[in-house]
Amino acid sequence: MGRTVPTPVNSADEPIPFFLTPKSEALAAPAIPGPRSEAAGRMVQARIGGALVTIPCPTWCVVDHVADDAAFIQDVSHHSLPISLPAPTFGGGQEQTEEILTADVSQWPFSSGHTAEPFVSLDASGDSLCAELAPEALEAFADQLEAHADKLRQLARLAAVARTAGGAR
Ligand SMILES: [Zn+2]
Repeated sequence: MGRTVPTPVNSADEPIPFFLTPKSEALAAPAIPGPRSEAAGRMVQARIGGALVTIPCPTWCVVDHVADDAAFIQDVSHHSLPISLPAPTFGGGQEQTEEILTADVSQWPFSSGHTAEPFVSLDASGDSLCAELAPEALEAFADQLEAHADKLRQLARLAAVARTAGGAR
């Protein structure tokens, strides 16, 4: 079983880009608004089937429902600001990243293809195939990500020790 391994790129000696330091990234990212205590809805204008109507829209929604220009009421969906993680990927010698773990809060209140409840939409690998996760499921996944981050640090330390030892050449 062969696996295609990209030509090694000696990028490990370069300075760590800003986006690779998670704490800096977290500090720089706009804060995700917390749940509001006031009523979770407001009435906004929407264009549905070419006509302007008024629909309820949750306060966390950032969609312009007029510009969204839905064909049918079933197409109306609410979305929060998305977040994502730029991850380094093979770039043929160039620094390159791809956005992974893109997530937002979504709600399709009138569609039969989704639960009417808000959920977290998670596009794990950037292929636009989104999991629809209940809050509890996303909390569990976040726990697994923390454990994975610990393993990444272990690999980094192993590589550092291996460098110090000179490695087998
Ligand atoms: Zn909305």
